[in-house]
Amino acid sequence: MAGSVPPVVIEPPVVIDAHTHAFPPEWVADRVNHCQRDRWFGELYEAPSARMSDAGNLILAMDEAGVAQAVACGWPWADPGLCREHNDYLAEVSRASQGRLAWLGCVGPAFPGAGAETERCLALGASGIGELNADAQGFDVAAPGALADVAAVLTAAGLPLLLHASEPVGHRYPGKGTATPDRLVSFLETQPALSVVLAHWGGGLPFYELMPEVGALCGNVVYDTAASSYLYGPGIFRTVLDIVGADRVLWGSDHPVLGMGRFLRRTHRLAGLLPEEVERVMGGNARRVYRLGDTGTCFGLMGTGG
Ligand SMILES: [Zn+2]
Repeated sequence: MAGSVPPVVIEPPVVIDAHTHAFPPEWVADRVNHCQRDRWFGELYEAPSARMSDAGNLILAMDEAGVAQAVACGWPWADPGLCREHNDYLAEVSRASQGRLAWLGCVGPAFPGAGAETERCLALGASGIGELNADAQGFDVAAPGALADVAAVLTAAGLPLLLHASEPVGHRYPGKGTATPDRLVSFLETQPALSVVLAHWGGGLPFYELMPEVGALCGNVVYDTAASSYLYGPGIFRTVLDIVGADRVLWGSDHPVLGMGRFLRRTHRLAGLLPEEVERVMGGNARRVYRLGDTGTCFGLMGTGG
């Protein structure tokens, strides 16, 4: 067929779920015991209907949804020993996942050693630290220096911190907490060089970015969409994208809190992404912020993901 013009193939964008959770299978089986070991975990998981997932089930959900890669978080344990065990699990399953799973380390900022555990996680291949949760882990996100050790290591490495965020208004739900935009802004003022991912649309912080002085503080902040349908109508996508731009939103489900496939279909149907935004929001931004393609991380070579 010399001389013929090859057909233009339009590839669907590679979807990355930037916010998921995975537990060791024996912890999933033993959740009652963990409900007693950790207050915050108990609050969310004492209901047997609250879904937990191990890494194997997470990958199955990715295959079913057609999601190529996911960023797996552990849990914001109050006990740094549990964080450490969980980090070891995530490092191992990430290594075995042939690039399907990146992971974030969890550390206990209220205890000494958080900076050292951050370094250990990065040496094990973590793509950042998170999802830290001030209420679950007993630190004050607005207090000067609360996360200084962790932030120093991450800033030097050029990797992000993922923080749980929540709304100061609206319905109450287990795990909501008090990391509201006012407190998050106090934190951002102390960490201008740190790359920060604020979960759950930043608890509404994007709306305040319309104030120039707030917007100026948020240059290194991106927002993920985790648990979006529990919190907002689908109009949140268009509204936030119009305020902060398509480079600063990461699609993430919070799987298994929201089922990944269902949330993906809902996003495609209702979010109103413009064609030129899709690649960035659905994967490109996560790849940039978490540096998923960098050599030296265990996340350089990808499968295509079912
Ligand atoms: Zn969260």
